[in-house]
Amino acid sequence: MYLNQKELAELKQLIHKKQRQIEDSLVEMKKSSKPVNLDGSFGRLSRMDALQQQQMALNNQLHLEKELKQLKASQNRIDQGVYGYCLQCEEPIGFKRLCVKPEVLLCFACSKAQEVP
Ligand SMILES: [Zn+2]
Repeated sequence: MYLNQKELAELKQLIHKKQRQIEDSLVEMKKSSKPVNLDGSFGRLSRMDALQQQQMALNNQLHLEKELKQLKASQNRIDQGVYGYCLQCEEPIGFKRLCVKPEVLLCFACSKAQEVP
């Protein structure tokens, strides 16, 4: 493990904090997302706008759920003592990169390679 105890503790805290934030926003989102009533009157908001907004909220929710899964995976990796190493090439990801995105599971080079051009 290339991370020292202090760095690891810091990242653990970051993961916890981020996880709580995401869980909170998901609860809020589910509370406020109501199905679009297509027969109802939208006032100034057109039916298309309402559907578009619903789609955006859904995308946002899916994105957060994915992030939450990654955060949980990161926690498992901490428990297993393999956190901070790239899933693909097994190189250390680097403390600074982990501080910015503690849920990241790939190193910079591998995540770049995965991006669709
Ligand atoms: Zn890698």
